[in-house]
Amino acid sequence: MSEIDEQNAFQVVHEGYNMHEAIEEAQRCLHCKIPQCKKGCPIENDIPDFVHELSKGNLGSAMQIINNKSNLPAICGRVCPHEKQCQGHCVLGKKGTPIQIGKLEQFIADFDTKMQLRREKLPQKTRGKVAVIGSGPAGLTVAGDLAREGFAVTIFEGQAEPGGVLMYGIPEYRLPKVVVRSETAKIEALGVNFVCNALVGENGLTVDSLFAEGFDAIFMGTGTAVPQNMDSTPGSKLHGVSQSTYFLHNVNAFNEGALGRDQVPLKDGEKVGVIGGGNVAMDAARTAIRMGSDVTVIYRRTQEEMPAIQSEYEEAVSEGVKFQWETTVEEFIAGKNGRLAECRLKTPDGERIEKFDRIYLAIGSRPANRIVSTTEGIEVDEKGYVKVQERPYGMTTRRGVFAGGDVVHRPQTVVLAMKAAKDVAQGIAQYVDALKLMKDVGIKIEEQ
Ligand SMILES: Cc1cc2nc3c(=O)[nH]c(=O)nc-3n(C[C@H](O)[C@H](O)[C@H](O)COP(=O)(O)OP(=O)(O)OC[C@H]3O[C@@H](n4cnc5c(N)ncnc54)[C@H](O)[C@@H]3O)c2cc1C
Repeated sequence: MSEIDEQNAFQVVHEGYNMHEAIEEAQRCLHCKIPQCKKGCPIENDIPDFVHELSKGNLGSAMQIINNKSNLPAICGRVCPHEKQCQGHCVLGKKGTPIQIGKLEQFIADFDTKMQLRREKLPQKTRGKVAVIGSGPAGLTVAGDLAREGFAVTIFEGQAEPGGVLMYGIPEYRLPKVVVRSETAKIEALGVNFVCNALVGENGLTVDSLFAEGFDAIFMGTGTAVPQNMDSTPGSKLHGVSQSTYFLHNVNAFNEGALGRDQVPLKDGEKVGVIGGGNVAMDAARTAIRMGSDVTVIYRRTQEEMPAIQSEYEEAVSEGVKFQWETTVEEFIAGKNGRLAECRLKTPDGERIEKFDRIYLAIGSRPANRIVSTTEGIEVDEKGYVKVQERPYGMTTRRGVFAGGDVVHRPQTVVLAMKAAKDVAQGIAQYVDALKLMKDVGIKIEEQ
C-alpha cells in the first residue's frame, strides 16, 4: 500500500473549500445568459443563480435555490460525475479551468447543515398518503418532493439505516457517512417518516398490506440489489471469489465500528483482483488498497471503453492500483487448501496463470424480485427491470404502484436516479389528486 497513509486510509480524499475559497471561486462565474452548466445537469439545478448568491455571501439564498431542485446537494456535490455534467459544460473550461461547481454545491450544503441556515415553511400533510419502498437517492427524492407538496410520506427501508448505495456502497473516503446521515435528517425534517429494517416482500409486509393500511400510492425505489456472478466460469464458487458490493458493505460496516477487522473478507497483504471497469470496480480496488492489498483491476475491454469516471480511474492509478486491459478470467483455480489461489487469464498476449488470493466481482447488478414475486400485476422485463408508463408518469402495470431509479432504468448514477424520481413524484401527485377527486365526487373506484 505504497501510496496511502495507512493511519488515515479512509479519510476523505478531497477536502472541501473554506468560506474564502468558496466565495473566490464563485466570483469567477461569468453568469452566462444561456448557462451551459445548467444544461449539463440532469436535474437542471439553477447553478449560476446559487453561485451568484454565494459570490455575494448570501448562503441562505443559495441554499434555497438549490433546495428548489435537489434534496441531496451535499451528496451530488461529492459524487456526481461533474466532469461530464455541469463542470464539463462550463464555458470557462474551454480555455482554462471550469468553475468547480460540485465543490461549491458541497460547500453551501455543508454550511447549511452546520449552521442550520434556514427552515422551510411546510404545508400540512393533507393531500394523500404515499409509501416509498427504498431510501436510496430515488426514494429520498420522491419522499422529499412529495412531503414539500403536502403528502404524508413513509419510507420503508430494508436496511438498518437509510441511504441505499450512499450508505452501504460508496466508500467513506469519497462520501462520509456523516454527510449521508445529515442529508437524510433534512428529509426527515420535512415530515417524512422512516421505518428501517422493513423489507417489503417479507414477513407479511407487502404492497397489498401497505394498500390495506391506507396508502394511496406506493413508490418502488429498490435499486439493483442482485449482483451478477460468473457462474459459467470454472471455479467461480471457490472460497476467495466474492462480490465487490459485499466487500464494500463490510468495509463500510468495519469503518463504522459495526464489524471487526477479521470479519472483512480480506487479509493484510493479500493479492486482489477486481473484475470490472465501472465505478463499483474503482471503489472496490481503491478500498482494497486502503486495506493493505496489492490490487489489479481486470477489465475485458480497452481503457477508452472503461465506464468508470475518468477521475476515479486516475486516482486509482495514483494510489497504486494496476490495470490489465482486454483481459478476461477463464478459470479460477484452487490451491491445496481448496480456496482460490490463481486465475487463468486470457490477455491480448495469450493465456497465462497469475496468483490471486481474492477476486471481487464488479460486473453489474439487477433488481431483486422480492416485491414483484409477492405482488400481483407488476410486470418486469426479462432481466427483472420494472416496466413503467408515461401517464401517470412512472406508474407500473399495477395501478397505484410507481417505480423509478435503477430498478427501472438499470444501474446509472445518483443524479439520474434523482431525475427519474422527481418526474415520478409528479406522476404520483397527479394520480393521488385524481383519485381523491373521483372519491370526492362519488365515483366508485375498485380496490388497488
Ligand atoms: C459501489 C458503488 C459506487 C457508486 N458510485 C457512484 C458515484 O460515485 N456517483 C454516482 O452518481 N453514482 C454512483 N453509483 C451508482 C448510484 O449509487 C446508483 O445509481 C443509485 O444509488 C441508484 O439509486 P436508487 O435509489 O435507484 O437505488 P439504491 O441506491 O440501490 O437504493 C435502493 C434502496 O432500496 C432498498 N430496498 C431494496 N429492496 C427493498 C425492499 N424489498 N424493501 C425495502 N427496501 C428495499 C435498499 O436497501 C436500498 O436502500 C455507485 C454505485 C455503487 C454500487
